[in-house]
Amino acid sequence: MKEVILIKDGELALKGLNRSTFEDILVKNIKRRLSRLGKFAFTKAQSTITAEPLDDTIDLSEAMRQIGSIFGIVGYSRAAVCEKDLNEILRTAESYLGDALNRVATFKVEAKRSDKKFPYNSPAICREVGGYLLARHPHLKVDVHTPQLIVNIEVRDQYTFIHGNQQRGAGGMPVGTNGKGMLLISGGIDSPVAGWMMAKRGIELSAVHFASPPYTSKRAEMKVHELLAKVAVYSGRIKLYTVCFTDIQEAIRDHCPEEMFTLVMRRHMMRIASALAEKENAQALITGESVGQVASQTIYALGCTDQAAALPVFRPCIGLDKTEIIELSRKIDTFDISIQPYEDCCTIFTPKHPKTRPTPALLDATEALYDWTDLLQTAIDTAKIETITQEEGL
Ligand code: ATP
Ligand code: MG
Repeated sequence: MKEVILIKDGELALKGLNRSTFEDILVKNIKRRLSRLGKFAFTKAQSTITAEPLDDTIDLSEAMRQIGSIFGIVGYSRAAVCEKDLNEILRTAESYLGDALNRVATFKVEAKRSDKKFPYNSPAICREVGGYLLARHPHLKVDVHTPQLIVNIEVRDQYTFIHGNQQRGAGGMPVGTNGKGMLLISGGIDSPVAGWMMAKRGIELSAVHFASPPYTSKRAEMKVHELLAKVAVYSGRIKLYTVCFTDIQEAIRDHCPEEMFTLVMRRHMMRIASALAEKENAQALITGESVGQVASQTIYALGCTDQAAALPVFRPCIGLDKTEIIELSRKIDTFDISIQPYEDCCTIFTPKHPKTRPTPALLDATEALYDWTDLLQTAIDTAKIETITQEEGL
């Protein structure tokens, strides 16, 4: 029996964004994601993208799994394809969904007829198919409100599609429909979640990680690769800049008052990230900060950090509790990696009593104690560039 995958695109209230651009980018993302499984033909009609496998060896279960993590999709299902003939539809519904019907107690049939020349209208298709299936599965009851299985019949221009329960898609908007963001990724719990949240809103990701060898280890960098590989399952490939931050951190230690260490460090991170974002044509920075979580994330500190950024800083975790962020990190499978205990550059040279109510003027005065220009430029120029894909983490 011939099968296809039906993909329903999401975000129906598209304000300002052209629907066909949205769909074109979504199809491109799906194509890229499925390309390593084999060849598919794609067609678009009535908010549905049909992915038709062009060779028999394609693993459709794996294709379904991949589609489940592509943003911009509200629902998707495997469907049997048959001719537009009522008897054919009845037989196919039974052979395709008979086993599934044996495993449930209640069902209903939903029909859509976009080809108005088909001699049965939607209620008539439901009646015919429902009656036929009930006769073969006498244990079943029809439940129109909360059925355990919905049998969908879609009579289209060329064929009829028959499918059972639709799976819920990842939601959001297709990655690439809302510009690009530079994610500041640590090895912690919050920043991978922040990246995932912005990718869900259609933002393509690049990333920057600050490493301070020998204070931070190679293993800590590998952890960041593994985290990004998990985020890439949803966002697609991510270009990663790894910045050597050691000289800057040592200069901060040597030239600034201890209580200001973290704040100056975070402002330098923003400066370097802004410069790299510009190279990448990114329009925003993304961090995992959440207000009040630690001393460098008081409302005062965040204000001072912002002043060093040349681009808007998106902080999607800002209003979330740690438990809520953890829930999301479990959902995207980054939690177990994040909790591995490798040091981050933020955890070296930490002040015993960090300043929690800094002002921009105080930070400007502190930073004036040293000329950072060359160190910042060198850090930007020597950043290592790699591309992280979801396979990286396997
Ligand atoms: P996370 O769990 O994301 O590490 P956190 O609660 O530990 O966050 P901080 O360590 O203060 O908080 O970091 C705040 C944000 O700064 C992070 O979410 C991340 O966006 C950025 N950040 C921290 N350390 C680094 C790093 N080594 N490289 C790049 N970005 C970093
Ligand atoms: Mg951290």
